[in-house]
Amino acid sequence: MHRDVLIVGFGLAGWALTEALTKEGKSFVVFDPFVESSSRIATGIYNPVVLKRFRAIYHVDELMAHSVPFYKHPKYASALNPMPIWRVFASESEQNDWAVASDNSTLRTYLGASVSHLKNDNILAPSGMGEVLHTGWVNTSLLLHQAHKHLLQKQAFVSELFSYKDLIITSKGVEYGQWKATHIIFAEGVGIRKNPWFSNLPVVPNKGEWLIVKCPGLHLKYMLKGSVFIVPLGGDRYRVGATYAHSFSSLTPTNESKGWLMECFKKYIALPFEVESHGTGVRPTVPDRKPLVGKHPKYPALNCVNGLGSRGILWAPFLASSLINCLFNKQDIPVEVDLTRYFKV
Ligand SMILES: Cc1cc2nc3c(=O)[nH]c(=O)nc-3n(C[C@H](O)[C@H](O)[C@H](O)COP(=O)(O)OP(=O)(O)OC[C@H]3O[C@@H](n4cnc5c(N)ncnc54)[C@H](O)[C@@H]3O)c2cc1C
Repeated sequence: MHRDVLIVGFGLAGWALTEALTKEGKSFVVFDPFVESSSRIATGIYNPVVLKRFRAIYHVDELMAHSVPFYKHPKYASALNPMPIWRVFASESEQNDWAVASDNSTLRTYLGASVSHLKNDNILAPSGMGEVLHTGWVNTSLLLHQAHKHLLQKQAFVSELFSYKDLIITSKGVEYGQWKATHIIFAEGVGIRKNPWFSNLPVVPNKGEWLIVKCPGLHLKYMLKGSVFIVPLGGDRYRVGATYAHSFSSLTPTNESKGWLMECFKKYIALPFEVESHGTGVRPTVPDRKPLVGKHPKYPALNCVNGLGSRGILWAPFLASSLINCLFNKQDIPVEVDLTRYFKV
C-alpha cells in the first residue's frame, strides 16, 4: 500500500493538503478519528484586515488570491457564504482612523471609503460603520463532512488516531502498518503536543467560546464586527463570538464568557434575543503569530503544518500549497512561516 504522502489530522490544514495533493496528482491517505476539531467549530470567517487596528494581514493579496478560490470550488459551493463585514466604530476618532486606512494603497481594495449610518434601526452604531470587502464565512463543519465522505469513498481516509510509536522512518520515507510513503505530514492542531518529533514547536492552545442566538426581526444580511463578530446563519439565527483565552483549566463553556458575549450582542442590537447554544474550541496559536510549516531538520520525510491561529481559513490553503510545492517542486517555504525558526533538534 504505497502512497506519496500520509497525512495525520483532518482539520482545515489536513483538508487543504488533500486538495493541494489532488491538484498535484499525488496519492495520499489521511488518518483522523474525525470526532472533533477546532476547524469544525470555527466561525469560518475569511477577512483580509486586522479590524482592531485597521491593518492588512500578512501577505494579504497573496493569501486572498490563493486561498479563497479553494472554497469557491463548485463541490464546496453550499458551504461558502460570501458577505461583507461592517465594522462598527466606537468613536469619531476611529472613524477618522478608518478614513486614513481606506486611503492606504494596500487596504484600498478591502476597505470601503465611505462611513455609513445604515438604515437598520435595530443596529446600535451611533458613530457609524465601515464596510470590509471581499469577505465571507465558510461553513467548515459542512465542508469537512463533505470532503470526509468523498475521501472515505476513495478509500483515502482511515478513521483512527495515528499511533506515533508505530511509525518507522526508513531511508526511502516512512512505513506505518500496511502503509509506505515517501512523506508524512502532521497537521494535528493542538494535538501536536503529543507528537514526538514536533512537540518542541511552541503551539499554544487558545480557548474560544461562542453563542448561537435567535433574534427574530433583525434581518441582518452581513456580518457585524464590534467587540465580537455577529454572523447571520440564516433564518433568525446568529453566531456571536468568539472569546480569546490563553489561560484556562478546562474546555467547558463558562457562565462568565456567556454573560460577556450576551452583553456584546446587546451593545449593538436593540432587539430581544434568546441563547440557543454555547460552545468552545481551541485555536493552535504561535507566539510570533505566524504559522509553522516545513520539514523536520533531522528527518526530511517528516513534515508539519500547524499554528494557524485564528485565521485557519486563509492560512490553510496557502500553507498546504507552499509545503506541497516544497516537497514535489523544490520550491522554498516562505521564510516567515518556516518552522525551522523555532526548531531546536
Ligand atoms: C471559537 C473559534 C472560532 C474560530 N473562528 C475562526 C474564523 O472565523 N476564521 C478562521 O479563519 N479561523 C477561525 N478559527 C481558527 C481555526 O479554527 C483554526 O485556525 C483551524 O481550525 C486550525 O486547523 P488545524 O487543521 O490546524 O487544526 P484542527 O482543526 O484542530 O485539526 C486537527 C485535527 O488533527 C486530528 N489529530 C490530532 N492528533 C491526531 C492523531 N494522533 N492522529 C490522527 N488525527 C489527529 C484532530 O482529530 C483534528 O481533527 C476559530 C477557532 C475557534 C476555536
